[in-house]
Amino acid sequence: MAQFRTIAFQEVLKRQPKKVEAPSNEVTVYFGTKVFDLVKMQKYLSKEAYRAVKKAIAEGSHIDRRMADQVAAGMRDWAIDNGATHYTHWFHPLTDGTAEKHDGFIEFGDFGGPVESFSGELLVQQEPDASSFPSGGIRNTFEARGYTAWDVSSPAFLVGTTLCIPTVFVSYTGEALDYKAPLLKALNELNKAATEVCHYFDRKVTRVYATLGWEQEYFLVDEAFYNARPDLILTGRTLVGHQSAKDQQLDDHYFSSIPERVKAFMEDFEIEAYKLGIPVKTRHNEVAPNQFECAPIFEEVNLANDHNQLIMDVMKRVARRHNFQVLFHEKPFAGINGSGKHNNWSLATDTGVNLLSPGKNPKSNLQFLTFLVNVVKTVYDNQDLLRASILTAGNSHRLGANEAPPAILSIFLGSTLSKVLDDLVKNVPTTKMSPEKKTELKLGIGKIPEILLDNTDRNRTSPFAFTGNRFEFRAVGAGANCAAPMIVLNGALAYQLKQFKKDVDALIAKGRKKDEAIFQVLRQMIKESKDILFEGDNYSEEWKEEAARRGLTNITSVPESLSTYFSEQARKVFIENGIFTERELEGRVEVEFEKFTKKIQIEARVLGDLVINHIIPTAVQYQNKLIENVKGMKEIFGEEEYKEHIGDRLDLIREISSHVSVIKKMVYEMVEARKVANKLENEREKAFKYDQTVRPYLDKIRYHVDKLERVIDDELWPLPKYREMLFTR
Ligand code: ADP
Ligand code: MG
Repeated sequence: MAQFRTIAFQEVLKRQPKKVEAPSNEVTVYFGTKVFDLVKMQKYLSKEAYRAVKKAIAEGSHIDRRMADQVAAGMRDWAIDNGATHYTHWFHPLTDGTAEKHDGFIEFGDFGGPVESFSGELLVQQEPDASSFPSGGIRNTFEARGYTAWDVSSPAFLVGTTLCIPTVFVSYTGEALDYKAPLLKALNELNKAATEVCHYFDRKVTRVYATLGWEQEYFLVDEAFYNARPDLILTGRTLVGHQSAKDQQLDDHYFSSIPERVKAFMEDFEIEAYKLGIPVKTRHNEVAPNQFECAPIFEEVNLANDHNQLIMDVMKRVARRHNFQVLFHEKPFAGINGSGKHNNWSLATDTGVNLLSPGKNPKSNLQFLTFLVNVVKTVYDNQDLLRASILTAGNSHRLGANEAPPAILSIFLGSTLSKVLDDLVKNVPTTKMSPEKKTELKLGIGKIPEILLDNTDRNRTSPFAFTGNRFEFRAVGAGANCAAPMIVLNGALAYQLKQFKKDVDALIAKGRKKDEAIFQVLRQMIKESKDILFEGDNYSEEWKEEAARRGLTNITSVPESLSTYFSEQARKVFIENGIFTERELEGRVEVEFEKFTKKIQIEARVLGDLVINHIIPTAVQYQNKLIENVKGMKEIFGEEEYKEHIGDRLDLIREISSHVSVIKKMVYEMVEARKVANKLENEREKAFKYDQTVRPYLDKIRYHVDKLERVIDDELWPLPKYREMLFTR
């Protein structure tokens, strides 16, 4: 065994679970202790300031400078009382993860000497030097400044001794440079559009908000193994590695008992999560060995997404205490399942109704059907944009490969609900309805809750499934910022609901009764979008063919998928709908092209280094051993005996030799392909070039390396193997 691998292995054998004590077995005792929430605001703010913040959270209203000063002072006092020395605006740039720049509270006071200070001005707005964040050309160097601005709707929290204030990040000229600003816009548009549609059914609704419950999948690897794998360190995934003889084929990992060391890690990060007010609830083993999942109770989308980004950070930090590295890459190991982040999503009103849950009477069921059908139509019309929001370099190993969600968007409703929609198309007349007909229709939909209860069939292969009271968008990647798909889904639904309202109002203006108008518009929408509904096996070849016949798109290339952001539909839901300006949209797509190119570029470089510096020298070393062996055989064997045995040895030497030659040749070609691609100025063209001419080498080279791993002496192999990394002792 090569040196690093041996040392790693010896380290790992010594590991013990590191149990941590929770402050109390009752989570409520310490839940949210590190969050400046309404309860703490009540204590630290004046009545006036408290009311202003509460109103701003509930209604999205503005907080004036005088109030901001009061809030800042209260926030500072709370933070200092809880051990803080620094503060930071915490934001979501267009990279993987969040960003922060810490400043001390310390200032010189009016009479000299230091004081702890934090003004409303500093709370509300900051100007980090932002020139190094991706902007897609929005920020030229002369206007390189960016601003972060307080997002009142997500509470400030403490990490260690730093007060973190959730913020949006915009350029000097006002364009969004992050995920949060457009997400807030999309959610706001959705609120307006959905509230108006709710008024057909209930005038008391004043606010509709989207809810999100993410299920975070991840892998754990011992840090000693991780540190001996340059590919894991630099790209987040293994670029080479032969499959373990046993991995997930016995289905013995899913939901099985959690190894003690892993459980200690989970308990530890869950305690941290509770202190930060993140309501984690579920933990279990996933399908692949060393793959796990964590899921919280759902929350409002913006808050849920902040919590997801925060918990990923917490998990990474806590993992180190347990000598683990946590991997959020969508496909860290070839040949076994990758990791996703199911986005469970629904719509709720401030009157306490889940709009995607069937109601108790025909009226609320018509409301349920209205929102359901609008979602169906939204997904149908925006399949390309939804895909573009989640198809990244990492996630492309899942989508369209032979595992969980395919690159074809479709919706699973369950047979019962599908039949309800079919019946609606059949039974709703296009002419004026008789009172009897209307009663019949309403009675029909009045039965939905009953039938749904015993309709528990769940389709695990669907990328977008209705699960009784919400939709589950399963194609989102484990490493993603949920804001990306949530901007598209909520923004596009807002656009759709506005169209819906226009259509219904137009029929009402023509003299149709309200319910009748709604039924007729829904009928038309179902007819237009029913091709997106699919109940069968989404992984099958037949579905690919069937989907093509239906005209559904199936795009597996990242640059091709990103190009759909330039479509007419994108203009409608983003620009017309007020979520992005034209410049913002262009900048954003440019960043995505660039991100894709860079990820492939880094992988190609790392693989090149790995094979040239690790693999080929090892192969040659082993080959030399074999050559020595052949020479020795010649010395000790007689002519006859030598001839009998030498064939096998020479074959092995030739096999190694030919893999080495092919690898060398392909690495050379890959470098040449990169040089050509790097010359392109246009980010879109460059991404296509990388996708078509560089990316294919990654798998081709890997194939030969993995063959070498199988024939070369285990003693010499330099990299920790799958069978070692994937099973936690
Ligand atoms: P499963 O693995 O069966 O899909 P989990 O229990 O792992 O289910 O996760 C379900 C997720 O769905 C949880 O995060 C839960 O909070 C979330 N969820 C439940 N109801 C809603 C809702 N109305 N809106 C958004 N998310 C929801
Ligand atoms: Mg789950």
